[in-house]
Amino acid sequence: MSSTVPSHSTRVLRVRVKDRHAVWLSQLSREVNTVWNYCNDLQTRVFERERKFLTGFDFWPYLKGCTRGDDSLNLPVQTVQETAEQYARSRRQHKRVRLAWRKSKGVRRSLGWLPFKVRTIKYAHGQIYFAGKWLSVWDSWGLGEHELRAGSFSEDSRGRWYLNVTVNMKRPPRVAPEGNAIGIDLGLKDLAVLSDGNKVEAERFYRDLEPALATAQRAGKKRRVKAIHAKIANRRQDFLHKLTTKLASRHCVICVGDVNAKALARGPHAKSVLDAGWSAMRTMLQYKCDDAGAWFLEVPEHGTTRMCNCCGAMSGPQGIAGLAVRQWACVVCGVSHHRDTNAARNILARGLAIFEEQFAAAGEAKADEAVVNEIGRHAVPVGVGHDPLVVGIPVL
Ligand SMILES: [Zn+2]
Repeated sequence: MSSTVPSHSTRVLRVRVKDRHAVWLSQLSREVNTVWNYCNDLQTRVFERERKFLTGFDFWPYLKGCTRGDDSLNLPVQTVQETAEQYARSRRQHKRVRLAWRKSKGVRRSLGWLPFKVRTIKYAHGQIYFAGKWLSVWDSWGLGEHELRAGSFSEDSRGRWYLNVTVNMKRPPRVAPEGNAIGIDLGLKDLAVLSDGNKVEAERFYRDLEPALATAQRAGKKRRVKAIHAKIANRRQDFLHKLTTKLASRHCVICVGDVNAKALARGPHAKSVLDAGWSAMRTMLQYKCDDAGAWFLEVPEHGTTRMCNCCGAMSGPQGIAGLAVRQWACVVCGVSHHRDTNAARNILARGLAIFEEQFAAAGEAKADEAVVNEIGRHAVPVGVGHDPLVVGIPVL
């Protein structure tokens, strides 16, 4: 067994803060905006004069003392520091000289945000202690069972506040799920088509509620519009959680095509693409597989629709005209295919080929170390954070 497997995994838990604290949190978040905008201003001036970029740490001397004295900020000093560090991180990430201002007022107001560091918040008797105040939350996660680390308070478009906090969760005992390897082709008509022939229909969360949304928008009912958007997001989230949990618990290897959602979202199918939630689904599969001790792999899906999974000939439908073709027969070997099932099987085959390569490389490395394993025919692959898998996975 690999010794690199951590016994903990980091998760972000999100719980709703009770509404009676919303005003107070909003006040504090305006102070965060002040700190952020100060950093933005300072960075701009430093760049103009010295062509230099400030790190989060560089801001500290300038922010010293802003939480002490009569006219001082009410923020905990760790929140001030974390805001500066986040600023520096985002600026670097976006490769900009400066970032957008955080606005405290008006229609383009930034949604409230209050970051904090490790050991800034405390939990006791179902409440969270932050900045000198005890906050009540809807504790849907049992926060008391975890060690609370860094995180943030954040506001959604409906003015509700949430606590997002990272915790170290103990991993459940690792029992690799039994079951076959599976390939998944992500699509628009069906959300996912599996290499075993099963299909998961795309739930049309957005389109289903579009008429209601349009009515509310025409009537100028802002609260109703926001509520419908939240409903769409919740339904999608719930659906994807159930689906990915099921997949990760029933398969030892999951290979998914690397569809580029961002590129497609610019095209004519934009609404459907965003609705499908491919990225969310892949993220969920990744961590659920990690927890279940299964393997997750993203596979380049280029050409998987055209290739016949029986003989490997590029005999399938192609181009825009080929999009409508659901069923086709290979002209080389004569086998008839369902378009997406065929693609899913190709994705699975590619994924397994990548694994075999990794196993082989790992095997060679082992041999070099003269670590001979006497288990016999079973290769011992070395993976990142995973238990070994017996090679020769049955392909459907
Ligand atoms: Zn063929």
